[in-house]
Amino acid sequence: MTKDNGTNSAALVLFSGGQDSTVCLAWALDRYERVETIGFDYGQRHDVELECRVKVRSATIEAFPEWNARLGDDHMVEIPALSKISETALTRDVEIEMQENGLPNTFVPGRNLLFFTYASALGHRRGMKTLVGGMCETDYSGYPDCRHETLQSLAHAIRLGTDVEFVIETPLMRLSKAQTWELAHDLGGSALVDLIVEHTHSCYKGARETRHDWGYGCGACPACELREKGFREWSGATAETAGA
Ligand code: ZN
Repeated sequence: MTKDNGTNSAALVLFSGGQDSTVCLAWALDRYERVETIGFDYGQRHDVELECRVKVRSATIEAFPEWNARLGDDHMVEIPALSKISETALTRDVEIEMQENGLPNTFVPGRNLLFFTYASALGHRRGMKTLVGGMCETDYSGYPDCRHETLQSLAHAIRLGTDVEFVIETPLMRLSKAQTWELAHDLGGSALVDLIVEHTHSCYKGARETRHDWGYGCGACPACELREKGFREWSGATAETAGA
């Protein structure tokens, strides 16, 4: 992981309003002089994710005024074709379940390849050569487009296809969910942890009725289970350190 590629101090963050992309946003704001965000509307079943994006961005500059000058524009890209192509649980009203191939039926095939390709086109226009995403292959749900090798191969293809030295940064790639909470704490202390709990959204079912100590969600879907498990591990370890 490079602190900066040395040629360009601007980064474009793939930002969904979820926990992982919010940690990536903070990571980028800590390192780059100019940070913009890009989000994708592909007919998600739950608008809650799109609403959280706006709230997280405003809560971030409120809690961290020093980042205000760095945080630039937000870009929403509509990809309606994706929902037409993908018959999955995120965009159709069916139950979340594991499929025979070991992937949850929320899987939109190759989604991250499309997202980074769109991001590179926008980055090209706006002079941002660093693209940041919250993909992780440690605790991931089996998505092959979250793998380090997949994304670095894509970065290579993008460099060839644009003649621009794009870099794809994935600061969470090797982290467990507990370590992602730890990184949030390192970057922004308890203020950032609280912001993530209060404003980010990860639940596949779009549930925001119940607030748990780890955030809002149904508490039962794979995304909620991962988020809760990581929070428990991290807060348990923090309590042990404090008590030692
Ligand atoms: Zn859930």
